[in-house]
Amino acid sequence: MNKLTKWILIALVLGVFVGLGMNLLAPEAFGIVDMYVFTPVGDIFLSLIMMLVVPLVFFSISVGVADLGDPKKLGRMGGKTILFFMATSAISLSIALGAGLLVQPGSPGLLSEEVAEDYEVAEAPPIMETLVNIIPDNPIAAMSSGEMLQIIAFAIFIGLAMALLGEKVSGVKSLFSQGNEIMMKLVTIVMYVAPLGAFALIASALGSAGLEAVGSLAAYMLTVVGVLVIQCLLVYSLLLYFLGRMNPLTFFKGFYPAMAMAFSLSSSNGTLPLSMKSAQENLGVSKAVSGFVQPLGATINMDGTGVMQAVATVFIAQVYGENLSLSAMVVIVLTATLASIGTAGVPGVGMIMLAMVLTQVGLPTEGIALVIGVDRLLDMLRTSVNITGDAVCAAIVDRGEKKRGAIHESA
Ligand code: ASP
Repeated sequence: MNKLTKWILIALVLGVFVGLGMNLLAPEAFGIVDMYVFTPVGDIFLSLIMMLVVPLVFFSISVGVADLGDPKKLGRMGGKTILFFMATSAISLSIALGAGLLVQPGSPGLLSEEVAEDYEVAEAPPIMETLVNIIPDNPIAAMSSGEMLQIIAFAIFIGLAMALLGEKVSGVKSLFSQGNEIMMKLVTIVMYVAPLGAFALIASALGSAGLEAVGSLAAYMLTVVGVLVIQCLLVYSLLLYFLGRMNPLTFFKGFYPAMAMAFSLSSSNGTLPLSMKSAQENLGVSKAVSGFVQPLGATINMDGTGVMQAVATVFIAQVYGENLSLSAMVVIVLTATLASIGTAGVPGVGMIMLAMVLTQVGLPTEGIALVIGVDRLLDMLRTSVNITGDAVCAAIVDRGEKKRGAIHESA
């Protein structure tokens, strides 16, 4: 284990103890320390990482696509990637629905009317709007506001044009590859303060949520956590073993620094720099595949978020005494899969998109009030699963491409 990873893990554990300890023993002191230390340190760390995300995604995707050279290869890789994303989402959602029905975490009357009235439901953007908006009418505006899907679309176009122009634009291509190198170097530099940032973020999150938030929602939380663990350890391991011909242990050993970081950041986008670095350097995934699959996955593939949404929907239905029909469950799988395209990889958005899933099956969106209290904690875990799903896909697609001889370079 390298030194930095060890420090990140130590920081996570310390953060859990300090956050929970202060919440239980010295809640007032926590308020002050959180305001002047934990939150600002966490915010600075987050900004340090977020400042790298847009240029990194732009450079890595455009160079990745240009490296593929042939638009046919891009089509094949893109097709496989999207198919994989959809399939894993459908699997995780089905397991989550099954677990929700089996465990029955909700019971009628758990939601007091006041909570429901006080809670204001955030609007989820309609899925059609997200799809139509994929093509940016102003790429610079997309970059300045961090619209990941639009940035990805623009980078794919630029990469395609570079591939078609070949030697003519080799100067720009090497400029972009060097831009990519610079961003990766900055990731390494920023990671030196990661233990501190991770500690501050965890201590702040757990200190604010505390253990009492868990209370009556323990069954709901355990169901979500259980399915997330199954998805990670069983589904991904089987896929890696059978489709990627990779030992799952090797995968997790190489990738867990990124998982630990996702846990503390609760943001797939924020973890992207480290998850790409881990996949390329520790798992040997080629830059072309990692640079294409992982940013796309961080933006549109959220298996962990889907698990939360499916269990939460079943839970809310149970609390309201509604039975979910088989067709309602199909609707949940479809909407949650589509919703993940519109779920930005930042903290808490999965909850907002839950409103869309609930509406589709005719459940009151006020039910969100029930589960939101513990969402901060679940967000950490599901984000780790979200980025793991992307890396598993990258490893499998990479193997396929290398086998075909379509890609030679590694790391
Ligand atoms: N925090 C999650 C992510 O970044 C999204 C969510 O479920 O809220 O992947």
